[in-house]
Amino acid sequence: MSCIFCRIVAGEIPATVVAQGDRWLAFRDIDAKAPTHVLIVPREHLASLHALTGAHAMLMGEIVVAAARIAEAERLTGGFRIVANAGPDAGQSVDHIHFHVLGGRPLGWPPG
Ligand code: AMP
Repeated sequence: MSCIFCRIVAGEIPATVVAQGDRWLAFRDIDAKAPTHVLIVPREHLASLHALTGAHAMLMGEIVVAAARIAEAERLTGGFRIVANAGPDAGQSVDHIHFHVLGGRPLGWPPG
């Protein structure tokens, strides 16, 4: 298994897990870009948002709700951001869908 996030989901490489559900896992980004930087990934390998179909709608909803609960748990009272990079123009560097949950400082807009 070569996908690094599949290996984290499988417990083959360590990660700091902050929350999980039957179909997703949330863990801290190894190179945090904000005081809170959590990644939420589906347990199923999906290379990018391009791979989504209507069959994934419930899973995607669960992940967005999970992001809101994580923001609460992290006490991101000033707000937070969810980011999902898809494809090279967006700078996607790991080919397994992941949602960044960022907060804990003013994040600025637009992103670079
Ligand atoms: P992206 O550039 O949107 O594809 O985001 C990939 C993210 O995965 C980056 O923020 C990396 O820091 C993060 N990352 C890569 N490897 C690991 C790992 N082993 N554990 C936690 N986060 C990772």
